[in-house]
Amino acid sequence: MNASTSLSTRLSDNFFLNEFTISQEAERHGYRNEPNEKQIDNLRLLCVNVLQPLREIIDVPIFINSGFRSFDVNAAVDGKFNSQHLEGKAADFIVPSMNLVDVFNIILQKLSFDQLIYEFGKWIHISWNGELNRKDVMISKKVYGKTMYEKVVGDRLSVISEERRV
Ligand SMILES: [Zn+2]
Repeated sequence: MNASTSLSTRLSDNFFLNEFTISQEAERHGYRNEPNEKQIDNLRLLCVNVLQPLREIIDVPIFINSGFRSFDVNAAVDGKFNSQHLEGKAADFIVPSMNLVDVFNIILQKLSFDQLIYEFGKWIHISWNGELNRKDVMISKKVYGKTMYEKVVGDRLSVISEERRV
């Protein structure tokens, strides 16, 4: 981060850098969670290509739960070692005023992305990787304490059971 980039930097019309860097885990542990220029560029691409277009379609606020994660923060939240959050290419979010399955289906049907994951019935994980986009669509669940991913086939997620503790 340099003088021209502050945490109040706007990434797109409705998204600011600080929404992607604030982390309760970082604060709890005293870890830094500051992206470098390359990681900020990736966050901007994620906003411009996915989150901002989604924001304009649904026309209601999107809340970022987790955006960029430094190595320490990623470890603290038990993130995968190669998580795209480390590169600023992924975000987890909720849309409080909408059914999350509806939001998921809008993304699936109208937008381009790398990975789209309906996580534990609680939030949506989305990533953008430019020309390397895989368009992977998955649901994650906890099964006996382990995270399992199931591929979603077709162009919509049908109603799935709300979070079930197994
Ligand atoms: Zn995520």
